[in-house]
Amino acid sequence: MSEQAAKKQRLLDDLQAKILSDGVCPDLAAQATQLVFGDGNPDSDIVFIGEAPGKNEDLQGRPFVGAAGKFLDEMLQCIHLQREHIYITNIVKYRPPNNRDPLPAEKQAFLPYLQVQLEIIQPKIVVTLGRHSTNCFLPDLQISKVHGQPKRIRLAYHGRNGAQSAKHSSGDSDSAGSAAVMPVVILPLYHPAAALYNGAMRQTLLDDFVKIPAIIEQL
Ligand code: URA
Repeated sequence: MSEQAAKKQRLLDDLQAKILSDGVCPDLAAQATQLVFGDGNPDSDIVFIGEAPGKNEDLQGRPFVGAAGKFLDEMLQCIHLQREHIYITNIVKYRPPNNRDPLPAEKQAFLPYLQVQLEIIQPKIVVTLGRHSTNCFLPDLQISKVHGQPKRIRLAYHGRNGAQSAKHSSGDSDSAGSAAVMPVVILPLYHPAAALYNGAMRQTLLDDFVKIPAIIEQL
């Protein structure tokens, strides 16, 4: 692991500890086996964001290890990437009971931590999987209309837990007055779990997925 990746991993470890010490979503935490924080290369140019852990993720403590994760791995292989090359996480980091949709309040509670996670990693592109993840960054857009279309946004820095120091060391952030922002490209995609057993959506997801290398190339 490079020095930069090791530094980012330490900041991510601190952030994970902070979620626990802040007691985020105590009701969810009480019903879950463990926090599922994120996995992969902390210095990757590409971050995938899902919705929330399912049963397998809850048991193993890693995101996307069930059927949807297998499908995601297959799609990554199509573009010559492996898990070790990317970083992957969810908006909500505890399994919702019976895999229900995450509640707005739960997404809201985890969002500041997700933002800091991105500030630490500093990806070039954030691939949002499904509508919950997409609408965290692009609240007014419908996934069915915008899937596969990269959108450039500017995230306001949250800057907690050392994220500011990661920002300053990378030197590519944009400061407008006192409000620092991080420019990032969001690529909304259908969720692999939704597309898994739906032929048309599956093909659309595959078609969108193979555009990722060209989109990164253009950044
Ligand atoms: N679905 C998600 O959104 N996240 C996971 O980690 C697994 C399935």
